[in-house]
Amino acid sequence: MSILVVGSVAFDSITTPFGHVDEVLGGSACYFSTSASFFTDVNLVAVVGEDFPQRHIDFLDSRGIGLEGLMRGAGRTFRWAGQYEYDLNEAHTLDTQLNVFEDFKPDLPKGYRDAEYVFLANIDPELQLDVLSQVRNPRLVACDTMNFWISGKRDALLKTLARVDTLVINEAEVRQLAEEPNLVKAAAIVRGFGPQTLVVKRGEYGVLMFGEHSIFSAPAYPLEEVFDPTGAGDTFAGGFVGYLAATRNLNENNLRKAIVFGSVMASFTVEKFSLDRLRDLQYGEIEDRFHKMKLLTDFGLLDDLQ
Ligand code: AMP
Repeated sequence: MSILVVGSVAFDSITTPFGHVDEVLGGSACYFSTSASFFTDVNLVAVVGEDFPQRHIDFLDSRGIGLEGLMRGAGRTFRWAGQYEYDLNEAHTLDTQLNVFEDFKPDLPKGYRDAEYVFLANIDPELQLDVLSQVRNPRLVACDTMNFWISGKRDALLKTLARVDTLVINEAEVRQLAEEPNLVKAAAIVRGFGPQTLVVKRGEYGVLMFGEHSIFSAPAYPLEEVFDPTGAGDTFAGGFVGYLAATRNLNENNLRKAIVFGSVMASFTVEKFSLDRLRDLQYGEIEDRFHKMKLLTDFGLLDDLQ
């Protein structure tokens, strides 16, 4: 079952303790759609500028991503610059240039209006709502956002959240959005804004899901090499929603499996800059890490193995 995603397509300039890259392919919608494309079909809605090279379009196309909704605007592509210290859990934004996104008003291609799974990736909440209001009857609406929009466009964001089923955001952003330091209390406040399910991304500490019936905790896959955390959150979301759409099952048990698939996808992205690790990833590697994640958190299985 196909997914519709709206979000940023970007040129990222990133500095980590391990290196620096300038104007590489990034953006929330790029990471999300590439990750989700390992599980199901994805259609992308975004805008790029006149400076966006054909080779990036060819890459997205090679992943089978639907590009009918990828517009080319007059002007420059969205740009983001960020920096990480040794604590890779926190991105410090150095620069955000919305450029062609400033006045992007998408008109969804007809075939996209019946999407059953919608992901509102991190972008202006007004644009998220504009896209969502053109979709007729989605089964699942999931959403991401960040501090930039929580502080800059809070009212618009709250309007969007009222129509969202599942919100996927970072731990610090849950606290900021709820204006409450305790995470459990903050989760209850944020769920009160609309989303029935809240998925809290906690960087190297994994993910916490506050669901309708239970709380679920998944670790991050323990990696020796974490090179660049950019895109980990969006790649997580791509695996999460991708698995849900592929299996067409939204019960809480399946949400838990989807969280582990999302965590596995994120664990690959952080091994290299930009989308580079996802370019040569094979589905067998995803399955292999999924089984390792099972072993990592199992309480009884080792007895059977010994
Ligand atoms: P994450 O998965 O949270 O690491 O997201 C990283 C991606 O978010 C980068 O590739 C950026 O291009 C993109 N990004 C950063 N700031 C914004 C913003 N204000 N709106 C939309 N996308 C952004």
